[in-house]
Amino acid sequence: MKVAKFGGTSLASAEQIKKVCGIIRADQSRRLIVVSAPGKRHKDDTKVTDLLIAYAERFLQEGVAEAEKQAIYKRYQEIVQELGLSREVWNIVESELEGVLANKQGLSTERFIDAVKAAGEDTCAKVVAHYLSSLGEDAAYINPKDAGMLVTDEASNAHVLPIAYEKLAALRERKGITVFPGFFGYSTAGELVTFSRGGSDITGSILAAAVKADVYENFTDVDSVYVVNPNLIPEPKQVKEITYREMRELSYSGFSVFHEEALIPAYQADIPVCIKNTNNPSAPGTLIVAERPYATNRVSGIASDSGFCSIYVSKYLMNKEIGFGRKLLQILEEEGLSYEHTPSGIDNISVILRERDMSAEVEQRIVERIQTELEAEDIAVQHGLALVMIVGEGMRRSVGTTARATTALAAAKINLEMINQGSSEVSMMFGVKEEEADLAVIALYQEFFGDDEHASELSEQKSSIMV
Ligand code: ASP
Repeated sequence: MKVAKFGGTSLASAEQIKKVCGIIRADQSRRLIVVSAPGKRHKDDTKVTDLLIAYAERFLQEGVAEAEKQAIYKRYQEIVQELGLSREVWNIVESELEGVLANKQGLSTERFIDAVKAAGEDTCAKVVAHYLSSLGEDAAYINPKDAGMLVTDEASNAHVLPIAYEKLAALRERKGITVFPGFFGYSTAGELVTFSRGGSDITGSILAAAVKADVYENFTDVDSVYVVNPNLIPEPKQVKEITYREMRELSYSGFSVFHEEALIPAYQADIPVCIKNTNNPSAPGTLIVAERPYATNRVSGIASDSGFCSIYVSKYLMNKEIGFGRKLLQILEEEGLSYEHTPSGIDNISVILRERDMSAEVEQRIVERIQTELEAEDIAVQHGLALVMIVGEGMRRSVGTTARATTALAAAKINLEMINQGSSEVSMMFGVKEEEADLAVIALYQEFFGDDEHASELSEQKSSIMV
C-alpha cells in the first residue's frame, strides 16, 4: 500500500488534477491519497490558502469580504467545470464552502482562521474524490475527524497525538481509493486545528506511518531533490537517495521541498519517502531512507538559510562557573525563545536564534538580564546572519572535508562568523553575513560538485557576486 500526497502546484488547475488522477489510477497500490489546496498556476498567481487567509482577515475586520470570497469560489468553480463535473457537484461544494466561510458564530478568531484555511484542502479533497468517481473509480472523501486525525490544540501549529496512529490504522482496511485532506486535524474536544504552513506533507507522513505503508510518495513539481537550491545554481546535481538525517539537516537550512516536521512520523515508522514530480511521474525521484551506502568524503547537499542573529556572551572563568549555561538558557526560556545553536569557547558562548523571534524590546530585556543576573563582561548581539550548511553521512568517516570547505570559502574571501559541527557529524555549519550567503553556497558547490562542464559558468557567477 502506498500513501501518495500531492502538493499545491499538482492541484492548481483542472489540467493538473487530471494528471494527479492519472497517476493514482496507474498504480492500484496508491489507495490513500492526501491533497493540498490548489496552489499557484504560474509565478504571479495566489495559492488558495493565501486567498483564504486574506478572506478570513478581511472578514474579521469588516464582517464581510465579498471580493476575497468570490476569488476563492472562482478558483474552485473553474476547476469543477473544467473537470466536467455536474452542476450538482458544484452546488454541494459551494454550499459546504459557504458553511465554513460564513460561520464565525461561536468561534474565536484563531479557530475561525484555522477553519477557513482548512477549507482549502477539504474542498480540494472532495473535488478530487468526485472526479475519480466520475471516472468510474471506487473513490471516497474522508473527513479527518471521522478518520481519527487527533492533534494538539495549538492553533495553526498542531502536532499529532499518539492515539491518532491507532485510529488512523483502520484506513488500511478501506476498500477503493480514499482521498484525505491534508493540513488539519481535530483536538480531542472536537475543534478543527491546522498544522503549520505546508503541513499537508505532515498529514501524509502520519497516514503512511499509521497504515504502515510500503512507501510515502510525495508528489511535487520538481524531478528530485537537488544538492543545492536550483534557483541559485542552474541545473544542479540531483539527489537519488538520502537518509532521513541528511534530509532533516537540509530542510532545516533552507531546502523547501519537504516540510521540516514531516519526516518525523515516517522516520519513526521506518517508511521510505519518495519525492516525485507530478509533471514527470516516470522520473525516479529522490528516495529518503534510514540507511544508505555512502562514499566517505561525500557531501550530499549544501543549503543556506538567513534570518538568524547571535548573542555573544563572555565572562572570565565561565568554564568553572557551575550553572552558567543553564541560567543563560533559562533567561531565553522565560522570554519564550527557543534557541537554535550554542557554539562555545572556554570563557564565551554564543546563542544563535531566529531573528523573527526576537523583537528590539525582547533583545534589550535579554541583554540587561544577562548583564545583571550573569554578570557577563561582554555581550554583543549580531544581526543579519545566515547559516550555510554542508551535509553528508560520509563526513563522519572522512578526513579533510572541513578543510576543503574552509579553503573554498577563504578563496571566495568570505569571513566566517561561526563554525559549528553538529554532534552527529552529519553536517558542518558556517555562520556568514547574509549578503555573503549565496556566494558561500556557490563556492562550496564548486568545490564539492563542480565539474568541467559547469566550471566556467560557476566561476563567472561567483566573480559577478564578488565584484
Ligand atoms: N495549503 C497549505 C499551505 O499552503 C498546506 C499545504 O499546502 O501543505 O500552507
